[in-house]
Amino acid sequence: MKHEQSYYDEIKEKFAEQRDLRLKLRPEGTAQFTSDFSGPLKKHAEDPHADNITAREPINDTVEVLFIGGGFSALLTSARLRQRGIESIRIVERGSDVGGTWYWNRYPGVACDVVSYDYLPLLDELDYVPKHHYSRGEEILNHCKAIARKYDLYELAVFQTTIISTTWLEDERVWCLKTDRGDTMKAKFVICANGTLSKPKLARIAGIESFQGHSFHTSRWDYHYTGQNLEHLNDKVVGIIGTGATAVQAIPALGKQSKELYIFQRTPSSIDIRDDWETDQKWASSLQPGWQTVRRNKAIRQAQSSEKQLRERRKYTQEEKIRRQENSNIDYMMRIHRRIEQEVDDPIVADALKPWYMFMCKRPCFHNEYLATYNRPNVNLIDTQGEGVTEIRGQGPIFRDREFDLDLLIYATGFEVQKTGIYNKIIGKAGLNLEDKYSSGIQTLFGIHSAGYPNLFIMGGYQASFQFNLTYMLQTQGDHIADCIAHTRENSFDTIEATAKAEQWWVQEVINHRGKTTRNEDCTPGYYNFEGETQRRQDGNYNGGITRYLNHMETSREDMTKHYIFS
Ligand code: NDP
Repeated sequence: MKHEQSYYDEIKEKFAEQRDLRLKLRPEGTAQFTSDFSGPLKKHAEDPHADNITAREPINDTVEVLFIGGGFSALLTSARLRQRGIESIRIVERGSDVGGTWYWNRYPGVACDVVSYDYLPLLDELDYVPKHHYSRGEEILNHCKAIARKYDLYELAVFQTTIISTTWLEDERVWCLKTDRGDTMKAKFVICANGTLSKPKLARIAGIESFQGHSFHTSRWDYHYTGQNLEHLNDKVVGIIGTGATAVQAIPALGKQSKELYIFQRTPSSIDIRDDWETDQKWASSLQPGWQTVRRNKAIRQAQSSEKQLRERRKYTQEEKIRRQENSNIDYMMRIHRRIEQEVDDPIVADALKPWYMFMCKRPCFHNEYLATYNRPNVNLIDTQGEGVTEIRGQGPIFRDREFDLDLLIYATGFEVQKTGIYNKIIGKAGLNLEDKYSSGIQTLFGIHSAGYPNLFIMGGYQASFQFNLTYMLQTQGDHIADCIAHTRENSFDTIEATAKAEQWWVQEVINHRGKTTRNEDCTPGYYNFEGETQRRQDGNYNGGITRYLNHMETSREDMTKHYIFS
């Protein structure tokens, strides 16, 4: 149906009202959360997947390549390093196995909604075809372990260990890494592979520590308490705070198994259809070697605008382009609203579940059972209308004088966004802390190298392109890093370091491709726009497109001395 512009303008106004309401209700921005799980919050950092911390002597040795973190970043880069003949590779990981995000997040319903044939990496090398169009978390975790086995990464790996400092020793030309287990490890090359959403966060809710019932964060799911199939919840009153991508996947199972479920919503997510199916075995057996690379390249090519589309777009003014984009975005969101009306029986609940913001202001979600879960008589939506839960007492949360009496409270409140791709203290040449270097803005080449930090590589941080899908992006970074390390070794150099000039060029390149619209400020607050806080233009992703990002990295490798200093 075609609408007048006034229809779109009115909806945009409502989006702005809802954003303003939320900004007013939480002026603290990102400070409304904490990831400091010390003191009474300590239990929320503990690993429910390991029975105990395995005792061991401190390690004092030297390896060639050390990864901080054991998720996809480390696994994908290691695979390429192995192919380049590098033997001495160590993963240091906080969890008790590899997998990163997929190690920690094992809540019921956990799955990835990027198509599995694109998301699961190294399918050709592992001769594996995913079981479904969208992989379940368990399959992804198993795939991570299979990569670690195939490339012999368990041999030197150190688990249940967190790196706390990484210091460049100029005399020895190695990095020295200290851990929370008293280790002093040395490594020639260090790769920060710690992910960007790896620290769970809790809202700073008054009285949170006084809750007398059981509680955990979704990334630390306690199956001892809930039962493997949540069967222990049949006689329990359960509450869950948050309705982001994690909660959307966990809530259907909680709704089925809990005696009573209270869902504390601050802002609803957009929920579209999840078009899932079992992999067709005939199709799987027809796949030719190299099929995943061909498939990914095709998808990236198709995502690019054709010459005809570009010509068409050039006809419009910038203002008109933005207007057309916003209108089709609103059309999508209104389709999401209609879907809610069709799925949810109670019109008041349906209304409360409608998201009032542009598509992609928050992480879009896909689920076929989430909305219908609200039709269950034991499921209660507590719509806090942008306010959120602000107080918890012994029995449970309080909202507008109503006290909820819960046995279990689950925090689905997300993760701290690590903008820089680093978590520990990194001290480079001349004793400069990388955080101090970044204090006036992130400075990198490709989001990977930073001048003054030889042989250090950062994965998944800002100033890199995050288009297509994360594992593809990490693989391209891993390929680049493996090439850099191989070039350094093969030419008998000790170090590789980005030149200051190359770094300045890249920062400018990032700035040039940043926001042509006020989209970030127009969005309702959330972790995508740092809860409405203003960001420096360089402190963000490279928005020039994945193909341009790859081309730039490739060009830099063709003429290494232009971008890097070797010594
Ligand atoms: P999010 O940060 O996306 O969601 C946190 C939720 O907690 C939001 O609904 C937020 O509300 C709510 N919240 C925070 N404080 C309060 C409060 N005081 N009272 C009530 N509600 C509160 O975290 P998730 O763990 O859901 O997702 C993190 C990311 O992980 C996703 O964006 C996605 O990238 C990834 N992921 C991907 C999945 C997939 O592939 N399907 C599945 C799961 C996660 P508000 O919106 O108002 O801030």
